[in-house]
Amino acid sequence: MIIWGNIELEKQEEVGDFHCPACNCERKFELLRTRDCFHLFFIPLGQGELLQERIRCQSCRRPYPVTLLAWSAPTLASPEEAARPASEFLLSNFGNVVALTDSAAEEIRRRHLEGDFETSLAVRIEPVSRADKEIAITFDTPIADGRDWLGAAHGLPLVVDRRSAPDLVGTTIDFRDGQFYRD
Ligand SMILES: [Zn+2]
Repeated sequence: MIIWGNIELEKQEEVGDFHCPACNCERKFELLRTRDCFHLFFIPLGQGELLQERIRCQSCRRPYPVTLLAWSAPTLASPEEAARPASEFLLSNFGNVVALTDSAAEEIRRRHLEGDFETSLAVRIEPVSRADKEIAITFDTPIADGRDWLGAAHGLPLVVDRRSAPDLVGTTIDFRDGQFYRD
């Protein structure tokens, strides 16, 4: 009899330092990644598709969304910095790429409330086209595996695709006439 199929596996992949809200001090966290893996006789083959990431405090064992780390993200200064590849280490995936005006933050909050989205979701910011100044806003699960930059502004976790980051770095997103624009 041949047994194969898919299994979900959660594995600790990285560790680092963070401020745990429950312990209210500096603690070590571990990053847990859940992947959907193909298995043969229950031996996982390959890396599998990344389904979820979360961090867990090694002291109190409480889990948190990875967006918690976005609050301490440094500000990226140049397109070169925004384009640099992610290192192995998780914290290099965090960097504030854009800022928000009051009206943009207010409109994002309104849409979040209206859509009844989960609080662990981040706000994905994408240019509609390269030439255009129009910006598309969606609510999305952030993935800190190197595809995205994660940051925060006005109390909102923000996520920018690493490919669009060089075009957006240092810009401010505004909301006017029913649309989001970058300056
Ligand atoms: Zn803790």
